Amino acid sequence: MQEDTYMNVPFLDLKVQRDSIKQELMAAIGQVIDNTAFAGGKYVEQFENEYADYCNCKYAVGVGSGTAALWAALLAMDVGEGDEVITVPNTFIATVEAIYMAGAETVFVDVDEKTYNMDPEKLKDAITSRTKAIIPVHLYGQPADMDPIIEIAKEHGLYVIEDASQAHAAEYKGKKAGTIGDAGCFSFYPGKNLGAYGEAGIVVTDNEEFAENMRMFRDHGQNKKYYHEIIGWNSRMDGLQGAVLSVKLKHLDKWTELRRRNAAYYTEFLQSAAGVTIPYESPDVKHVYHIYPVLVENPGEMQQMLKEKDIFSAMHYPVPIHLQNAFAHLNISSGSFPAAERSSSMELSLPMFPELSEEQIHYVCDQIREILT
Ligand SMILES: *Cc1c(COP(=O)(O)O)cnc(C)c1O
Repeated sequence: MQEDTYMNVPFLDLKVQRDSIKQELMAAIGQVIDNTAFAGGKYVEQFENEYADYCNCKYAVGVGSGTAALWAALLAMDVGEGDEVITVPNTFIATVEAIYMAGAETVFVDVDEKTYNMDPEKLKDAITSRTKAIIPVHLYGQPADMDPIIEIAKEHGLYVIEDASQAHAAEYKGKKAGTIGDAGCFSFYPGKNLGAYGEAGIVVTDNEEFAENMRMFRDHGQNKKYYHEIIGWNSRMDGLQGAVLSVKLKHLDKWTELRRRNAAYYTEFLQSAAGVTIPYESPDVKHVYHIYPVLVENPGEMQQMLKEKDIFSAMHYPVPIHLQNAFAHLNISSGSFPAAERSSSMELSLPMFPELSEEQIHYVCDQIREILT
């Protein structure tokens, strides 16, 4: 390799973005400290209002993480023991942990081979008399096909909770991801498209009762100090996170467009490459590319070879949930969900963040082509 073409390409770099808004951030953090509004409080409320407006929905309830957001939403809908919740096996473990924590049972359905999202056709067969809710995951930043999912849910009187942890600013038929079902859960883990400077999450909903239940849940089941209506938990959003997120939300649309531009470069430079399946983007959605996933025959080997060239990639997720040791007690054998298992065994996530340059993307794609020839 010639020295003048060498580049180091991180999988994710949060520093460039931080530097671009550092003054705004420091001022916002300073205000929280001056006001000692650390646990919940006015900066969280302000961000909740801004995020609800941004999503065009009525209520937003800030919590301690995306995992807690999912748990809170399930509890708010009274999902618990004896109930079944349907979701997909190729998600981050948190989706299924939340179902477990609520006391309900997880029922998996396979995904669509092209979008890697819940297959509505297979959803119908998974419904039983105990099904209470469905959690589609908008994987990689592409909303699932919500119309048929909502239709099936209505037909059977089921709740729909969207796991929109990877889909801030994404849209399905012009509506913001997270606002199509009964509630939408977001993570603000630092590496997400809208990332806090610590742990945080939020649930958006138009349902006042669900919002009220979630506000109680995150604050020890109280709606008045030391008067506990239900058994809750401690999962308030930090004031510092609320303030940081308010600053960053103003830039989200710009960062989303840059991610989409970067995805378009990848697609352009890789579409004729043999041995690489590029992501399919449904015409119904605005995909926000939390991840740019490609399928290759041996992603582990490709990851290693790229690493040797100082290009850093990741895998989301190498083992689907039904085959994780933590859920071995579900007794689901390999081969049960072929589409999810196939994408798990072939997926490689290429470097993706708004500030990546066209030159870096071109370089990554050239190196991939070289490895594959
Ligand atoms: C990140 C993520 C979560 C969990 O969010 P945390 O804030 O890390 O708890 C849940 N579901 C999906 C699909 C995620 O990507």
